[in-house]
Amino acid sequence: MKEHACIKCKFITTESVCPNCGSTEFTENWSGVVYIIKPEDSFVAKLINAKKPGMYAIKIR
Ligand SMILES: [Zn+2]
Repeated sequence: MKEHACIKCKFITTESVCPNCGSTEFTENWSGVVYIIKPEDSFVAKLINAKKPGMYAIKIR
């Protein structure tokens, strides 16, 4: 399955359920990637409300 980005939290995954927020709504129209390694230490993670390590889209349409 192709990577898609969660519409709610922008988490990039190949799963059909978002492992970050549990949403099932995804888009394949995303661009830019921010990689969160340690959400608890990351300013960016707090900014985008990321709770899980992984890749997040910067922009979704
Ligand atoms: Zn999500």
